[in-house]
Formats: sequence, structure tokens, C-alpha cells
Amino acid sequence: MSSSTNAYEMAQAQFDKVADQLGLDQQVRDYLRYPMREFHVRIPVRMDDGTIRVFQGYRVQHNDVRGPNKGGLRFAANETADTVRALAMWMTWKTAVADIPLGGGKGGIVVDPSTLSDGEKERLVRGFVKAIWKNIGPRQDVPAPDVGTTPQMMGWMMDEYSSIVGTYTPGVITGKPLGGGGSEGRTEATGFGVVFTIREAMKHLGIDPSTTTASIQGFGNVGQYVAIGFQKFLGGKILCVSCWDRNDKKSYTFTNEAGVDPHFLKSITDQYGTIDKDKARGAGYLIEEGDAWLSKDVDVLIPAALEGQITGETVKKISQKVRILAEAANGPTTPDADAVLSERGTFVIPDFLCNAGGVTVSYMEGVQNDQNFYWSKEEVQERLDQKMTSAFNSVLQMALSKGVYTRDAAYMVAIDKVVRAMKLRGWISA
Ligand code: GLU
Repeated sequence: MSSSTNAYEMAQAQFDKVADQLGLDQQVRDYLRYPMREFHVRIPVRMDDGTIRVFQGYRVQHNDVRGPNKGGLRFAANETADTVRALAMWMTWKTAVADIPLGGGKGGIVVDPSTLSDGEKERLVRGFVKAIWKNIGPRQDVPAPDVGTTPQMMGWMMDEYSSIVGTYTPGVITGKPLGGGGSEGRTEATGFGVVFTIREAMKHLGIDPSTTTASIQGFGNVGQYVAIGFQKFLGGKILCVSCWDRNDKKSYTFTNEAGVDPHFLKSITDQYGTIDKDKARGAGYLIEEGDAWLSKDVDVLIPAALEGQITGETVKKISQKVRILAEAANGPTTPDADAVLSERGTFVIPDFLCNAGGVTVSYMEGVQNDQNFYWSKEEVQERLDQKMTSAFNSVLQMALSKGVYTRDAAYMVAIDKVVRAMKLRGWISA
């Protein structure tokens, strides 16, 4: 079993396992194990002090047989071509499982966003669009926000693209701000979608959601709305949340035995997901350094930060009480940790199913942009719930009928849709 935490090797190992189970042809593997296209660009940016700094950027298009490539753009100090490749690959499976007519892509820029001013961020994303505009577009590849990027940045990118092509083109990017071509409900979408899949998992396992507790790793956009949604829709209790403190360069877990107040915590969290420790302490939160979130006695464990967090080593710290692992992050679990979880019978809601709510509402945003007609928040949330519920159930049915681990079942559902489209388009022999 692979113990690699290299995201691309993880993504390929996950795919290979299911490709073997399905007996996939070599021609299909040769397409799907690798991205179809990738762009590596250098982006010169004038900094506030007048100097020019050159940044490294990537955009990877894994597969567009079912529709335009789709996926976020990350700002991360340790971004590599391999992390972007893995994330692009997972997007192909995500759009297929969610049953939306899009492919898989991802972008990344090697930078710690908290070191940039707003003006520098704007010039960097505009520079990125200048470098790749010929290769993106509403019918080619549609970026969106992700770790380290915001709706405002998407607004600047849409403006840059529209200026270059000379036509207002809101559909080139999703996750734009409200009033700037964005959709109602997009900000909450990933987190709320995670909660809808947890609700369905509890229904299947016969668990009463209102009696449950959860622990969340990460308090960025996704973690915040998972916490809010877990209380709002399920009536459950969030025992603790953890965050990466960008000042101390350490992670901390914030616990409240009576249940955290996600709205209060959100109000004391900066735009990079760092919670103010003094204010939290003042409000009675217990603060522990390190990965205490992982070993709490809770019913649901929700990694909502980065890839490669639950490994063959760290999986041993997970409490026996945990019934559900809901992967709000992309790629949080390594294949050797999967082997342990599957053996133990933990119900894993795999990442590209669990967190598909963001791209699902991105799809709805693109539809609204095309129609130039905008929907209410209620309409968006209702459609999101329907899509997530039906995606969850297609994976559950596959897992039950084939007797396989839920991640493998999700791959089977996704690969089937992608392969069918490849055959229909004549990319591979029927
Ligand atoms: N970045 C999000 C993801 O990983 C959303 C992608 C999108 O909306 O295109 O799913």
C-alpha cells in the first residue's frame, strides 16, 4: 500500500486500484492517469516598493471529455506541479460524481497570500490571466476560488479576461462576488454540501444527527460553513475546530465542551483562517497546540484543510468512537490510511463526493451567467441539496451493490461516466 503523501502519487494510486478492480483497458488508463494539458507560466508583478518579483503559476487541465475543465486556483507557498495535477484529476471525478457537465482542472500560484498587499494580489491574478487567457474561457476552462484565493480575486480575473477579449465574459470564472456576476449561495456551498452528505450518511447508518458531535480541522471558508451548517441543518454539536496560525506557524485546536459558536469564531478569524487566540481564550475556549482535533471522542471527523493529513501514522490517533470521516478537504487521506479506515469500518465520505457542493454551485453560477438571469438563495440551496443527495446515493448504491469501500465506489461511478463520454466521442474504442 502506498504510503506517499505526494498528492499526485496518491491520486494515481487511488485510480490504479479501481482501474484494476474494473479491469480497465490500457488505452483508458493512458488517458486518465495523466492530465491532458498543462501550462507552466512565469508571472512578473510590480510590487508596492517598485521592484518586480516573478511568480511561478500552473494551470492543469486533466480531462474535458464531459465539458469545459473546471476547478479552483490556489495561492500556496508550497504549491508544486504535482499538487496541481492531483487536484485537477480529483476535479474530473468530482464533476462526474456530482453529475454536472464539466471536466477537471486546477491552478496554483506559488505564494503565501498573507505576504501580499491587496494591490499586489490584484496585479498577480491579472498577470496570471494575461499569461493563460488563450487557454481558459467559458467553453475551455473555468477557474474558481480555492485555498488562499477570494471572490474579489475572481472579480479581477473576470475583468482582466473581459478586457483582453473585448467582451463582458462573466462565465470565464466562478465564485465571483455578488453583484459582480456571482451567485447567491456560492460562499456557503462547499461547507453546506459537506453537511448534506453527512446527513445522508447518518440516515444510512441510523444515527440521529441531533445527538452527534464533530471535530473540524481548518477554519477557512469550508470549515466555517461546515460548522455553521452542522448546527443549522443537523442540530449537532461541534466540539472543536482547529486552525493554522499564520503568525506562530503552528496549528491549534479550539475546544468548547458545550459546543463551539461558529458565528463567534468566524467573527474573530482573519481572511487566512487564523483564529485570534486571545479573544477565543477570553470567551472560555480551551486552546491546545498541535493536532488535538484528530484524537477527540466525536462521532464525525471533518478534515477541512489540506491534502495528506490522515496518514498511516496519524490514522492511529483517531478515536474508536468516530463513525464518519467526512472529507471536506481535497485529498486529506493517504492510501495506507484508507486501508486502516476500511478495515475498521469507518464510513468515509470521500473528498470528491463530500466537497462537490462548491463546484456544483459554480456550475449554477455559470448557467446564470449564460442566461443573464439570477436565482434566489433558496433556489440555489434547494438545487444544491438535490444534487448532493443524489450524488451521495449513487455512490452508496455502488458501494453496497459491489461490496466495496466508499472511495472505490465513488471512483467507479465517476470513471464510468467519463469512460462512457470518451466512447461516445470516439476518443477510445467502444
Ligand atoms: N475549489 C473548489 C473545489 O476544489 C471549487 C471548484 C470550482 O468551483 O470550480 O472543488
